[in-house]
Amino acid sequence: MKRETGFSASRRLRPAQADDAAPRPDLLQRLAAAHAERAQQQLLRRLRTVAEVAGPRIVVAGRTLLHFANNDYLGLAQHPALREAALRALARGGVGAGAAHLLGGHREEHAALEETLARWTGRERALLFSTGYMANLGVIGALLGAGDVCVQDRLNHACLIDGARLAGCELKRYPHADVAAAARQLRQRPGAAALVASDGVFSMDGDVAPLAELAALCTKEHATLLIDDAHGLGVLGPDGAGSLAEAGLTPSDAPVLMATLGKALGTFGAFVAGSAALIEGLVQFARTYVYTTALPPALAAAARAAVEVARLESWRRDKLHRLIAHFRHGAAARGIALAAARTPIQPVPIGASEAALRAAQALEDAGFYVPAIRPPTVPRGAARLRVTLSAAHEERDVERLLDALARALAAARDAEA
Ligand SMILES: *Cc1c(COP(=O)(O)O)cnc(C)c1O
Repeated sequence: MKRETGFSASRRLRPAQADDAAPRPDLLQRLAAAHAERAQQQLLRRLRTVAEVAGPRIVVAGRTLLHFANNDYLGLAQHPALREAALRALARGGVGAGAAHLLGGHREEHAALEETLARWTGRERALLFSTGYMANLGVIGALLGAGDVCVQDRLNHACLIDGARLAGCELKRYPHADVAAAARQLRQRPGAAALVASDGVFSMDGDVAPLAELAALCTKEHATLLIDDAHGLGVLGPDGAGSLAEAGLTPSDAPVLMATLGKALGTFGAFVAGSAALIEGLVQFARTYVYTTALPPALAAAARAAVEVARLESWRRDKLHRLIAHFRHGAAARGIALAAARTPIQPVPIGASEAALRAAQALEDAGFYVPAIRPPTVPRGAARLRVTLSAAHEERDVERLLDALARALAAARDAEA
């Protein structure tokens, strides 16, 4: 059985067979060598410090930039209702939860948020996790073990992949959105307990998974479907209830829903929603739930306010979808090719990493923050600019971005030639 193991830089540099006679490798040197290799391939990631935030504008290295990379799709991160809810909870109960949920860290703010999330997503119960990464590690680890199989879209978020690796099950990855390939992979293990996991909205591509087809496949093959709706919740569906609600799928079609609070809800944290039996099982067996400090209660209070705002201020969703349409029409009019996406994630395919870096730098010089996304985050030769839109943007912001984008892409092409 072929299975990728290890999360570290050592994977690429380690000899196939450990040689007991050779001197023991120095770990820090090996890490430095992996770093140098990545630098040489022009694939280094770059950390930027944001000094100030005001709506969609940020100050980086003394310059004001229009932020087109934020996942705060509804513009809630600075909303007064969220600030006030957080401040009230801070005044009442301090900053940290002080303990894990099961050891006295579970506050009323957490319980109230879980109820609100369950109601919003139409599920019996919801369970908070400190991050989306931990939610996926926890839920997959609780459901699967050795001998089981996890079938995943190739373009799934890294934490779904890592969740399956850590669970010790067999991980099979099907070509993007290819439900027939997923079916073949399931049928290769007819007797095995099986989880099919997919992003609802793909984080680097912005397209929506073939949710109805995946649900039908899982029903037919007696597999369980897990949807990670980090980028769908708040944005898609009636009331912003997410990609599953938009597709008209019920909890029995997709029994395990995971979503984050750090994107369209503008706060931090994540949750899994589903049946009472699922949630009770996770409380017992999800290690990233049991063995970690509960989310700061003020963040839970802010997230609950965010759900209220996201539901009530539907103009934010309407405006966001108008801006998405505006961006796509404007790009077409300027001859800018976009990926097929109807969500706030609007990738501009470039191809070569160097060209993507040049285009990102040209945009920054023009006052826009749009980072280049390169391998290994995306497949080799699939570097792109990942533009994200938010209800905090205005139409004129999008117009200015489109003009700058057209110039940056033309300049990148000229440099290529
Ligand atoms: C961001 C993201 C996560 C991780 O969520 P965090 O709360 O940031 O850890 C998980 N899945 C998907 C699809 C994401 O985009």
